[in-house]
Amino acid sequence: MQYQIPRGTYDILPADSHKWQRIISAFRELAGSYGYREITTPIFEQAGLFERSSGESSDVVKKEMYRFHDRKGREFALRPEGTAPVARSYVENRLDLVSNHAKLYYLGPMFRYDRPQAGRYRQFYQYGIEFIGSNHPYYDAEVISILWHYLFGLGLKDLRLELNSVGCPNCGQAYDAALREYYRPHLQSLCTDCRQRFELKPRRLLDCKVPTCKEIAVKAPIQLDYLDQTCREHFAGVQGILAQMHIPYQVNPGIVRGLDYYTNTAFEIVGGQLGAQNSLAGGGRYNGLLEQVGGRSIPAVGFAGGFERLLLMLEADQAPMPAVPVPDVYLAAIGETAQQRAFTLINALRLAGLYAEFEPDRVSLKSQLKSADSQKARFALIIGEDELATQSCILKDLQSGEQRSLPLEPLADIIAILKA
Ligand code: AMP
Repeated sequence: MQYQIPRGTYDILPADSHKWQRIISAFRELAGSYGYREITTPIFEQAGLFERSSGESSDVVKKEMYRFHDRKGREFALRPEGTAPVARSYVENRLDLVSNHAKLYYLGPMFRYDRPQAGRYRQFYQYGIEFIGSNHPYYDAEVISILWHYLFGLGLKDLRLELNSVGCPNCGQAYDAALREYYRPHLQSLCTDCRQRFELKPRRLLDCKVPTCKEIAVKAPIQLDYLDQTCREHFAGVQGILAQMHIPYQVNPGIVRGLDYYTNTAFEIVGGQLGAQNSLAGGGRYNGLLEQVGGRSIPAVGFAGGFERLLLMLEADQAPMPAVPVPDVYLAAIGETAQQRAFTLINALRLAGLYAEFEPDRVSLKSQLKSADSQKARFALIIGEDELATQSCILKDLQSGEQRSLPLEPLADIIAILKA
């Protein structure tokens, strides 16, 4: 029986893992420098959490959620996104009592049952930021700036920030009415899902991927024309601060985001090279979410991005990527006594913080040096009977081929050379 990886998932093989480590640690470092702290939640939650927060009629909940029952019949879901779990944890752990402003980031796998294609997976890895505790437009701009600097800092070039405001429940009502009026004469031409959306959530009509529905959506009224005074001022505030921060953006009324909890700011970063799945990251403000998951009404703003698309784009842009790490030193031992000594020596080298390799199943010096070469080790440290008799070793620079004999003790002197 040959087992296969589930469709829409992938293995991160050792040859690629250093790239993942790089983009993950860069995100942790940058978020940390803005004062954000990591929060880690389970990969499964009560299914109701997502139904309540994302909206039961959203595609994510209706079609894409991995649901299961545990042995006691309770219904859970593999998390399709990270914001609702963070909000749940914030409320449950009373993080509002710790500080007025919670600055949080998370990293981890998300799960959506969708048709896999380039840049779209069923298990994918997201990074995200959540700022909870203020409605000030500065914080919308702050989270956007983290994302912007993160992506540019990694070496991406061809990026566009698209910005919109989806208003608040107050202006949403007027907008829904305008949408219904626009769509009513088109009802017969809409897909079955959209006919349901018409009653339930007319704004979802704008998101539909069916070509005929997409065509009708082009001329639909836009939310920006229905913002109330407060929402208009908020949107102008965000734009003003982004300009002060020298972050370029384009207003795109088509950015509506798929989930129910967005209010006011909605944004996406799109990359030119990514084709159909060109959204690199997206987010916005969700002032209603905390209350929906059982907390007080606390305003919040955040974003999430996917590492898979980020890596695809780094490759397409030929952005600098770290080289695969190579051993600082390859320890070669010839003969039984030297090998015994090597067991102590290799340990001491590693304790000193060096990346040191040793392969006792390679017997001859030739085979050991061949392996050192193929691993691109910088130095070979060679010990044999002769060297042990004089308490010395041979240190060979594998790039220049130059070699010299050195005393084995004190080892600190050799370590200093290897670290230089
Ligand atoms: P969303 O949570 O849908 O707003 O998506 C935020 C970001 O997560 C997107 O811009 C993508 O980078 C990434 N993403 C979302 N869904 C997938 C998926 N199925 N496969 C890979 N990346 C995804």
